[in-house]
Amino acid sequence: MSAEVETALRGPQAFTLARQAIEAMEANKVWPTALNFELWVHYLGAQDGDLAHEIKHMIEAGEPFTDSIGEVLAAKHLPKVKLNGEILEAGDALTKELASVTRAIEVAQKSSEAYGQQLADASESLDTEDTSAIRTMVDTLADATRRVQAENQTLESQLADTTAEVGRLRANLESLRREAMTDGLTNLANRKAFDEALAAACAQADAKGHPLTLAVLDIDHFKKFNDTWGHQTGDQVIRYVASVIARNGPTPRTAARYGGEEFALIFPGEPTGAAMQVLESIRVEFSSRVLKRRSTDENLGAVTLSAGVAQRKPKEDPVSLIERADGALYASKNNGRNRTTSADEVAAAA
Ligand code: C2E
Repeated sequence: MSAEVETALRGPQAFTLARQAIEAMEANKVWPTALNFELWVHYLGAQDGDLAHEIKHMIEAGEPFTDSIGEVLAAKHLPKVKLNGEILEAGDALTKELASVTRAIEVAQKSSEAYGQQLADASESLDTEDTSAIRTMVDTLADATRRVQAENQTLESQLADTTAEVGRLRANLESLRREAMTDGLTNLANRKAFDEALAAACAQADAKGHPLTLAVLDIDHFKKFNDTWGHQTGDQVIRYVASVIARNGPTPRTAARYGGEEFALIFPGEPTGAAMQVLESIRVEFSSRVLKRRSTDENLGAVTLSAGVAQRKPKEDPVSLIERADGALYASKNNGRNRTTSADEVAAAA
């Protein structure tokens, strides 16, 4: 649902959807806060979803839409808010687990201190020649030893449980982190992950003195395509680009959905020529496939890609690199689309 709405918000119907959300909020006396706006856009953008059912039910029942209800609905249905909540919950659980280990260790420490004290007392008592006193002392030590052994066993089993629980929580956090860095529609890296990967790749290129190349690609006439065939088919085409990229751009390259119908590929350690070859394979594979509309089996016509490639200059910052790759992409668009252009070609032409 979220990917659908996110795509709609970048498509031709974005302003209509935003206006409808504001009008519906006004009609239902809902304050236009950022969170409420996001909720109502999701409600109107996916009218058959669970969020829409809840809001419709509230409207029919004449229930007021308060800020606290908005927060509850957002935590339940808005993917980003939900994800943040899940990350916080996992963090809380981890903190509790660590607190319980700390408590158990404190108890064990106190108990071994007491045991040490008992041993010291016993050693003092050894000075006496009274055998009954020695027997009492040995009994006390035997008791204390048994108690410490039992406590150690409890501690060991508690630590084993905790290790398992921490492992589970770590795996949960890892999968939440992956989810937060992944684009829901395509499973490629999202914009946030791309920004981080590009910054890391720039730092590594500086450290090792290696080349680094960035490519951006965009589906030609995608807005017109969406208007003609609808968002759902548009989403399928976006997914198809992603699958062609994944087939042609294996790790350690990062492939990301950079915007609505725009994608970016990072080529660490590779110069322009190598990236151009990959981009050309992607472009040719994509453009040579005849895509069909799944619901009617209609031929969707030629769908093509344009791309721009820029090799990083020494110490160039990520923003400038992206701008040069974008410039090369625009050159591809201006020169008839369905082509790949390098920033070097743009510079030479200028
Ligand atoms: P998907 O629908 O989940 O399909 C995943 C993969 O299953 C496809 O990867 C393809 O290998 C196979 N597959 C699914 N349906 C068919 C089919 O009718 N015929 C054949 N020969 N194979 C099929 P692929 O091709 O890389 O596509 C990835 C995604 O791109 C698809 O995910 C779908 O979302 C989109 N897509 C690809 N081709 C078309 C198309 O002609 N029309 C539409 N609407 N979407 C398409």
